[in-house]
Amino acid sequence: MNYEIVKIRSSQGVSKQCAILIIYTGGTIGMSQDASGSLVPFNFMKVLDHIPELSKIEVELTMISFPKPIDSSNVNIGDWQALGHIIYENYDQYDGFVILHGTDTMAYSASALSFMLEGLAKPIIFTGAQIPIGMLRSDARENLITAIEIAANQRNGCPLIKEVCIYFNQGLFRGNRSQKMRSSTFAAFDSQNYPILAVSGIDINYNETALAKPNGLAPLRLHKDFDDNVAILKIFPGITQALFISILGIKNLKGLIIETFGSGNIPNEAWFIECLKKAVENQIIILNVSQCSGGDVIHGRYKTSKKLSEIGIISGGNITTESALVKLMLLLGTKKSNEMVKNSLKSPMNGEMD
Ligand code: ASP
Repeated sequence: MNYEIVKIRSSQGVSKQCAILIIYTGGTIGMSQDASGSLVPFNFMKVLDHIPELSKIEVELTMISFPKPIDSSNVNIGDWQALGHIIYENYDQYDGFVILHGTDTMAYSASALSFMLEGLAKPIIFTGAQIPIGMLRSDARENLITAIEIAANQRNGCPLIKEVCIYFNQGLFRGNRSQKMRSSTFAAFDSQNYPILAVSGIDINYNETALAKPNGLAPLRLHKDFDDNVAILKIFPGITQALFISILGIKNLKGLIIETFGSGNIPNEAWFIECLKKAVENQIIILNVSQCSGGDVIHGRYKTSKKLSEIGIISGGNITTESALVKLMLLLGTKKSNEMVKNSLKSPMNGEMD
């Protein structure tokens, strides 16, 4: 892991009620225009200049920054490992964590951390912005301040939120259930297959029945080995056998997500099933996830998905593609047997599917 962590601000003179670590990774929230007019991340210190309100929050804040903030389209496994390490190493010193991250891949990173940190019983709240903090109509200020408030919310000395979430545009979502749905409105995120965890207005109203309730007894464990020998294949009308065969023939491919129609359907043509069957026989793990953001994969509901379970394709149920991908990479990274990986894919690991 190459990340050097820089401690850049610690609030002073605040009675210590709750300690929150803010980790800045980059994203639109901290971007400005370069000479050509494109948005690029800038130094985190400048972000602070735009949020003087932070000094008024009754929370002890510590902030660290990736040395080279990134556009989250560049996020990779190393960045997830860096985030996992930062949280693991600072877990006992802080009551909660806020991660400033670009929106493009926030759902992937939130899903990754939810699986990497087994036994998590503190809040990790991802947030960012659609308009950079320095611009007049930026959504950054509200997103960041409310994310800190949520991370600092305690009940009887314990954090109320004990899971990885995304806070954006007045909504708190379970991280591994979220998807970026919109790129040009403030309401970037949704979690179609899981209720919203909180809505922020004049008050922050929590949907307490939907919150994760780990008992917090087990020590935190960090899983950080991913296997990137995976692929996602979106099925489309007119897809050719040649394309299918070339994807399944990728050297060292170990896991494939097929993004199928509706409740998990594929075309009826015989070559589909033959190719998939052969791939399963060649030890490639294939997970079926729907192209629809809302709803479940149900093998056998239609004839067009009837044979999938018979040939060993796993139904992803109502998991998101983002969550499915990182779960598959992390499970393959454990080097467990194919049977064990398949069994883990069939059931929830950390609230990512029903
Ligand atoms: N491209 C940006 C990123 O994901 C978009 C954003 O932050 O909203 O880093």
